[in-house]
Amino acid sequence: MVERLTYSIDHRPGFLQRAREETFDLLVIGGGITGAGIALDASSRGLSVCLVEKGDFASGTSSKSTKLIHGGLRYLKQFEFGLVKEVGKERAVLHHLAPHLVVPEKMVLPLIKGGSLGKTMTSIGLYIYDFLADVEGDDKRRMLDKEEILEIEPLLPTEKLLGGSIYAEYRTDDARLTIEVIKTAYRYGALPLSYLECTGIVEENGQAVAAWCRDQLDGEVFKIHFRQVINAAGPWVDQVRGMVEQISGKRLYLTKGVHIVVPRAKLPVAHAVYFDVPHDNRMIFAIPRLEITYIGTTDTYYEGDKEHVTVNRGDVEYLLRAANETFSIENLTEADIVSSWVGLRPLIYEEGKSASEISRKDEIFEASNGMLSIAGGKLTGYRKMAERIVDIVVRRIFPDDYQDHPARTEDIFLTEDPFENYTACQLYIDEIKKVLLPKGLPEFYARYLVHNYGKDTSRILETLNTNNRLTSEESLLLAELDYCLANEMMIKPLDFLIRRTGRLFFLPQSIGLVEKHIFPYLEDKAAMQEIQLQQEMLSWREVLQSIRSFN
Ligand code: FAD
Repeated sequence: MVERLTYSIDHRPGFLQRAREETFDLLVIGGGITGAGIALDASSRGLSVCLVEKGDFASGTSSKSTKLIHGGLRYLKQFEFGLVKEVGKERAVLHHLAPHLVVPEKMVLPLIKGGSLGKTMTSIGLYIYDFLADVEGDDKRRMLDKEEILEIEPLLPTEKLLGGSIYAEYRTDDARLTIEVIKTAYRYGALPLSYLECTGIVEENGQAVAAWCRDQLDGEVFKIHFRQVINAAGPWVDQVRGMVEQISGKRLYLTKGVHIVVPRAKLPVAHAVYFDVPHDNRMIFAIPRLEITYIGTTDTYYEGDKEHVTVNRGDVEYLLRAANETFSIENLTEADIVSSWVGLRPLIYEEGKSASEISRKDEIFEASNGMLSIAGGKLTGYRKMAERIVDIVVRRIFPDDYQDHPARTEDIFLTEDPFENYTACQLYIDEIKKVLLPKGLPEFYARYLVHNYGKDTSRILETLNTNNRLTSEESLLLAELDYCLANEMMIKPLDFLIRRTGRLFFLPQSIGLVEKHIFPYLEDKAAMQEIQLQQEMLSWREVLQSIRSFN
């Protein structure tokens, strides 16, 4: 494996040159978690891999999930034991591979009078859940009576509360997980290219051999040659399938999921709470993070424009009402929302089933020209999805010795310098707090930085420029920006604000610094000359408008 490679926009012209000239064993279309996982799995098995993503990495669904690495408790209701077992076990694997990024989170599940959950069934359900995923020790579920649960989560509704339980899951940042998988694939020799859209597939003798690609930065169009292609385009899977044949049989069914963000002080839950929506038969989460709490998600059929999915007033009212009817808090209103996000689940259509009932299992389709497509699934299961589809590719590329190319990702850490375990990560956070406090930075920044960048936090802090023109928070923002420009193929300002840092959602206080600091700073960077920053400023203002105002 190559050590400490930098991965930045400066390398892009050389990367594009390679993409034009080489014939790759595998081309992956789509740089969400599914495509990223495939690129890592395939490159670590010895395949030469190119990946094309039409926007930024994780700019599709993989930055818009509930950000949990979870077993999917509710899938037990649908008797999806296989799915629960697989993703349940994956939680511990991913935690081991990236302890700073896939972080243990205790979930509180209240039992409410008239709710959809009964005490006995919940206890049995959680027992099965733990059993399927081999959960051990303190992480096993505990059933709590009313007093016990109120002690740990005092905001639950005293009148209606029957008791509840506490069980173990993990939280993550979906976009950062995708970026780390992309960077790891790059270290294993893959060539992941963002802002490069696949616009067509070229066939020879009935077989797919190349893809037309358009550079989204300068409009140039060229061909990338391959031996095998995988379509991992998430909600756009059918669009890419449509480039090669008429879609028949299984097809995608998109459902829209919205999250809203409120200041933590407005909904100060101590844990992530998974609760019944009082006025229907669904469950949603309230999840505290840094100084905010986010609430979600909705799950409704979607057939509109995939490039411009919006949060509407109905979505917001649904989530606010659910929170207001569940927690003993001052009523939350639309004015309390500081941010929001919305994503599309790329599910596979099943006759007669509603949005919430459709299976989250993944499936692989093959076109007559050999193109493989993969859809469905979950963020949590990305590694196993990759393994299944790359098994097929390896048999094609190495027919005689495919056994010599087994999947290896269970042992590939997702950072170059990983923490040994979560305790080591927590100790490191304590060390970072000691560095931040004298600089006047609140201690939550230690958790923010380490959960985002792991041990590279130290590298960022080394470059903290504390001149007296900038506050500590402004200096930190620019130090992170430098790090992301140099190491994380950050190309546009929104790549930084949404997908490299999550600042737009989790540190809304950063919003005021963007126009004053980020844009002027980028204007001076030679590497940014290709980027139309005026245009990017308009996109930023549009995003800002869309996360807080709803039609
Ligand atoms: P995407 O992330 O959408 O990636 C596909 C990529 O392909 C996109 O970036 C797109 O730009 C690119 N693309 C499309 N067409 C082209 C083209 N022609 N050329 C180049 N690139 C192209 N799962 C969990 O495990 N835990 C959760 O908590 C969770 N919560 C969720 C909550 C919501 C609201 C939603 C919507 C989903 C949730 N999921 C969760 C599911 C999970 O987020 C998705 O299964 C996963 O992110 C899908 O990843 P993907 O890579 O398949 O799709």
